[in-house]
Amino acid sequence: MKSVMTMAECLICQQPLATKNSWQQLLRGQPTFELCANCEEQIHYSQEKDAIYFYNEWMKKVLHQFKFHQDIRVAAFFAKALKQKLKHYDFDILMPVPMHPLMEKKRTFSHMNAILQAANLPFQQYLAKATPEQQSKKTKEVREKVSQLFTIKTKIGSEKSRILLVDDLVTTGTTRQHATTALYEAGIEKIDFIALISAKK
Ligand SMILES: [Zn+2]
Repeated sequence: MKSVMTMAECLICQQPLATKNSWQQLLRGQPTFELCANCEEQIHYSQEKDAIYFYNEWMKKVLHQFKFHQDIRVAAFFAKALKQKLKHYDFDILMPVPMHPLMEKKRTFSHMNAILQAANLPFQQYLAKATPEQQSKKTKEVREKVSQLFTIKTKIGSEKSRILLVDDLVTTGTTRQHATTALYEAGIEKIDFIALISAKK
């Protein structure tokens, strides 16, 4: 994790900003998180109800910085936006969509968990990624009906719980569909979904 400098800088491109962090803010661990005017201009908000941002070249850089350099300031940026968005939802349990098994092999950092922790939002995880063995055991017919990507890893407390799934990036919507299917199969009646970023065309 990168340390925060005294001089406030754009949390994405590290350009110095006019505002400075006070020592009090730094001591409390609450540095100012701001974007420079250039980065502000690059932000595209999604027109979809269930996503916050729209994917573009700038966002691609932001995600790369976060996922591969594990930059905690980016977690704070997303955490702030997510908290705002959650005000419009009624739910009992917040649940990050587990990373795709193939992605997890490449890196161990769970960025969605990091964002929820940065937002001080408690979350639970019922979903586990299905192993290739679990996936291949199912017949073709069954595979078409049920989730191939996820299994339920813990006993679900109450089927009445309203679950809000959160994912970082939605592209085709397949992951969302699989996560939702696995939870419906486990008897959950109400499932909502939001993505930080939508790349849907
Ligand atoms: Zn910037």
